[in-house]
Amino acid sequence: MTPRLAQPFAPDLGAEPPAWTLSAVCQSVDPEVFFPEKGEGVREAKRVCGGCAVRVECLTWTLATEATIGKRDGFVGHIHGIYGGLTAQERTRLLKQRQGERPPRPIAHGTEAGYKAHQRRGEPPCRACTDGSARAVSARRHANRKAPAA
Ligand code: SF4
Ligand SMILES: [Zn+2]
Repeated sequence: MTPRLAQPFAPDLGAEPPAWTLSAVCQSVDPEVFFPEKGEGVREAKRVCGGCAVRVECLTWTLATEATIGKRDGFVGHIHGIYGGLTAQERTRLLKQRQGERPPRPIAHGTEAGYKAHQRRGEPPCRACTDGSARAVSARRHANRKAPAA
């Protein structure tokens, strides 16, 4: 017998349902609860999600899936229904908020620029950056010494 899947998980997403859906509380709840018609409340769905052990996994998965849909279709896509305790509207807002936040630029380790980036972040430079910076400084000194006097 195939296990019953977490009901709110839209089967048409093409992906196999993640393993944690087996622990989803919504498996044993009337799915209608998660797809309220206009005017129907969302309180019951939120209450169920609030007591679900895999709520964080669910929300993370749903947001990631919605972000993927959004990238593919060129807009912030959302899945119908309440997942991870949030309505589609609330998730869209959260996604937009997160997309607006710029991730910190990665440090080019092993370079003088990397060394300075560590300093700007207020963290001790890593070994590679310390060495890279020392190399750059000594190369400059070397070049200066070689340069003909003006
Ligand atoms: S958080 Fe809600 S929608 Fe997600 S698995 Fe749990 S009960 Fe289902
Ligand atoms: Zn570094």
